[in-house]
Amino acid sequence: MNSEIEKLKNVVNNSNNIVFFGGAGVSTESGIPDFRSADGLYQNNPETILSHSFFIENPDIFFEFYKKNLIFTSAKPNTAHNVLAQMEKDKKLKGIITQNIDALHQKAGSENVFELHGSIAKNHCMKCGKFYSLDDFLKIETMVPLCSCGGIIKPDVVLYEEELDYDVINGAVNLLKKADVLIVGGTSLMVNPAASLINYFDGSYLALINMTPTPYDSRADIIIREKIGETFSKIY
Ligand code: ZN
Repeated sequence: MNSEIEKLKNVVNNSNNIVFFGGAGVSTESGIPDFRSADGLYQNNPETILSHSFFIENPDIFFEFYKKNLIFTSAKPNTAHNVLAQMEKDKKLKGIITQNIDALHQKAGSENVFELHGSIAKNHCMKCGKFYSLDDFLKIETMVPLCSCGGIIKPDVVLYEEELDYDVINGAVNLLKKADVLIVGGTSLMVNPAASLINYFDGSYLALINMTPTPYDSRADIIIREKIGETFSKIY
């Protein structure tokens, strides 16, 4: 076994205060592509379409893009999601902080999950506040989903130009401050402010699992350049 993986396995074995921080790479092994790869197929780039002002001005184009490129109803949790859920059940993992919006951690059975960029699983009417599950949201046949009151139903996903949710940030920061081991996976840690949250971690071991280098590599105690699912199958 790769010696860095061996090292992480020992660290995981000896701690019951682990936190996981994940990004898009965690979900690619479940068949969810990075929405940025949809670039080129559209007149506007994905980050423009997924901005608050574009959503307000062109809800039809926004929802066409959103439904096609951000919702994958058949996606299933992979080994990384499943192992993390088991680690939480075994009282070793305190929680998960994710940049993903696909709700696959909850599908795998994880409970303490902080979704920095929101979730496709929750939607609310902008006018009356009524809640819609993903199923209810998808049942609405018009391109722009309308509530029974006539308001637009907006996914609880943080769009560009929008602020991250205060309670979610607060929860994530508390988790990081108290953690003994932080495993970061499937993210190049380039998207702020999410990535900068890592700075709140002050525990014993920082492990990074990513195929490419990150700005935090120099601070890491363990660096693993392997696929995340495979790595998790070996460490726990
Ligand atoms: Zn409504």
